[in-house]
Amino acid sequence: MGHVGKLAWSRKARLARGSMFLIPALDYRLILAMENHQAPSVSEEMKICPHCQKEIPKKATRCSYCQADLRKWYGRHPILTVLGVMLLLIIFGSAGSGDQPAPSSQAGTTQNTAESLLSQNTPTIKELSTLPTNYIGKSFPLYVYLQTDRYYNYGFNDETAWYSVKIWDSSVDGSFSGVYAYLPKTSQNAGLISKALNAPVLVKVQASVPVSMWQDSSNAFVEVNSWTYQ
Ligand SMILES: [Zn+2]
Repeated sequence: MGHVGKLAWSRKARLARGSMFLIPALDYRLILAMENHQAPSVSEEMKICPHCQKEIPKKATRCSYCQADLRKWYGRHPILTVLGVMLLLIIFGSAGSGDQPAPSSQAGTTQNTAESLLSQNTPTIKELSTLPTNYIGKSFPLYVYLQTDRYYNYGFNDETAWYSVKIWDSSVDGSFSGVYAYLPKTSQNAGLISKALNAPVLVKVQASVPVSMWQDSSNAFVEVNSWTYQ
């Protein structure tokens, strides 16, 4: 009996001693499980401050530990952001309109356009000047600089009926400065003449060398039949 009792006691004692180890182990696993369970829900709402590495609410715009401004760059610089967007709009806006005719505000572009227009004439002003008989009775468009001086019209064959002008293109060089042309004295032409007085005006003209007006050795043989400002 005593033997059985002693055995029973020793089993109880072992159980008791075992549970002393068992219970803390369970607690530890429980704590681990709880921590594992809680960990994701914390990081979902928190973030690490990039300046002081402390954990702060995800929606915080300012770190409560180091006071660092945690807004995005454009949030911290609203004026610079607005200016930058406007600059981009201006850049892309002007790039988009780049394929339109050269704006007159840009002198360099206008010069390039004028040069390319003045260089595409057939005949050129120089050809017209050196071989005028080849063009008698013919009509052709020309891009030219057109200018006049008051004295051009003094002593001109029929100065009551015609304006006299000088026209030239990119074919002119040091040896000659253009050819003389005439156009009827109309109110529309008076506007062009006043604009071209002592200053070259870029125009596209429909020019001709009329048979009736041709005179050998005349230096004014080209008639301007119509014109448009360029
Ligand atoms: Zn911080």
